[in-house]
Amino acid sequence: MTEASLVSRTEACLAVRFRHPSSVIRPVSDTAPTRSLDFIREMVAEDVATGRFGRAPATRFPPEPNGFLHMGHAKSICLNFGIAKEYGGSCNLRFDDTNPLTEDVRYVDSIKRDVQWLGFQWTNEYYASDYFEKLYEIAELLVTKGKAYVDDQTEEQIRTNRGTVTSAGTPSPWRDRSVEENLTLLRGMKAGEFPDGSKVLRAKIDMAHPNMIMRDPLLLRIRRDAHHYRRGTEWKIFPFYDFAHGLSDAIEGITRSLCTLEFKDNREIYDWLVREAGFENPPTQIEFARLELDYTVLSKRKLLRLVNEGHVKGWDDPRMPTIAGMRRRGVRPEAIRDFAETIGVARKDARVEIAIFEHAVRNDLNMEVPRVLAVLKPLKVVLTNYPEGPGEMLEAQNYPHDVPKTGTRQIPFSRELYIDADDFMENPPKKFFRLSPGNEVRLRFGYIIKCEEVIKDAAGNIVELRCTYDPETKSGGANAGKKVKGTIQWVSAPHALSCEVRLYDRLFKLPDPDDVPEGQDFISALNPDSLVIIPDAKVEPTVANDAVGSRYQFERVGYFYSEPEDSTPGKLVFNRIVGLRDSWAKEVAKG
Ligand code: ATP
Ligand code: MG
Repeated sequence: MTEASLVSRTEACLAVRFRHPSSVIRPVSDTAPTRSLDFIREMVAEDVATGRFGRAPATRFPPEPNGFLHMGHAKSICLNFGIAKEYGGSCNLRFDDTNPLTEDVRYVDSIKRDVQWLGFQWTNEYYASDYFEKLYEIAELLVTKGKAYVDDQTEEQIRTNRGTVTSAGTPSPWRDRSVEENLTLLRGMKAGEFPDGSKVLRAKIDMAHPNMIMRDPLLLRIRRDAHHYRRGTEWKIFPFYDFAHGLSDAIEGITRSLCTLEFKDNREIYDWLVREAGFENPPTQIEFARLELDYTVLSKRKLLRLVNEGHVKGWDDPRMPTIAGMRRRGVRPEAIRDFAETIGVARKDARVEIAIFEHAVRNDLNMEVPRVLAVLKPLKVVLTNYPEGPGEMLEAQNYPHDVPKTGTRQIPFSRELYIDADDFMENPPKKFFRLSPGNEVRLRFGYIIKCEEVIKDAAGNIVELRCTYDPETKSGGANAGKKVKGTIQWVSAPHALSCEVRLYDRLFKLPDPDDVPEGQDFISALNPDSLVIIPDAKVEPTVANDAVGSRYQFERVGYFYSEPEDSTPGKLVFNRIVGLRDSWAKEVAKG
């Protein structure tokens, strides 16, 4: 099969439609179509067929509780939990909480909430910090076998003495300590007898190993006075990633340990440790491509900076690529799962165009959410030949694609309306089919109106349009079939609800926010217009009694979510989830 034929049709279309000027690798070459197996699932299917591990497939999602989960984690969650579900296996949620300096229970809680919100339930909830005793036993075992030693060099000296890819490292002067001395020192480290940084436990492998990671990697370090959010100050020695990770997998009976490509070189130490620790049928690591999304950053460290430096309102700011931010913005978990399936799992790193994500969001909402009429930039229209008084009710379709099932609603119409200021032009160009002086336009679900007069204030701003309407042009009227080129949305001025609308845009100006000039960092690539607040937009009154957290399509505008925390009984606030089309693609096309 050629690479091109592996691309699913949707993706192929998107790739063509949304190509932006910089050369971005789309997630195509290694991405299996949704219906055939990706390379990881192929391996798991084979494990099942051959009984390789002698147990059902077991995966885990291992976040460090030092920040909120982001879209990259969502990819890993969908993969790990998805495989467990598809192959009748299990998936643990394991907190990789081995660094007392950065972790917090607040993050544990947010991670649990986000995984469940995405639609997954873990088999077991585990904490690497519960394995400290077990890991310590393994440390003693390694020392006893002559496979680990206590090194008194500083981390700096250790780094310098590790050598380079082209030259061997220099063995530590402490490398040949006796087993007895090492055991005594290790016990002293655990008992808190030595200050931080004065000693580390290292594996004794090969200081000339071609894989730098295998040059006596660090296993345990002293953090004598640190406060761990679960273990308090009782525990004094903390495992490095390599020591904790594979062994935690092995302790839990994981079969395939899925991680991102930057850990490829760590696979050797993973295998060495589980073997030396004596596990039978130990898990093996498989690496897949990290998700990188255009116009955003997927790194907790960078996201934490955005929060701490006040560039966003918090981890759940709707502009953040966090799960919490997406939820707050109004994205549904279905869209995130669909997105994860669309991009698939690849063996090579690739940036994914944000348009692919936005497409998944629109696709999910399109069939799910009702339509309403709203006007973001209200311009008053007075229908001079319409009777004064209460007006009338017009019938409006809730879902244009399935009217019989989902029905209609009644929306008030009256002599005074608002239309969107962008739907009127005093001196329109040729192909402008909306309202302009002397021209006609159809009001959605209503009449055809004609602009007779433009009223301006002293400064020359347009403040009102005087129009006439044709009473025979509404549905059922003698002139109902009359054709005009444009249809626009409107709301009845005395009936409309005032609301605040928050228009969210890309958080960064650059597809790759790290692609900034020397001496600057990703912060300088922030998009100053990522949030535009419209304090006084107008929406039809039918939404007044819906629960906050309802989603709508504002016809011709986009998908919106009634803000769950900031809406008040007197004033709704709406978040724009996503526009109806990719406005940036249009700008690029225009040049
Ligand atoms: P970050 O750099 O954002 O802190 P991390 O890898 O340090 O990410 P962890 O909490 O250690 O964050 O990650 C938990 C799991 O999620 C790991 O298995 C990791 O491989 C996976 N993961 C993290 N980021 C991504 C990403 N961008 N794409 C795919 N998987 C990811
Ligand atoms: Mg990590």
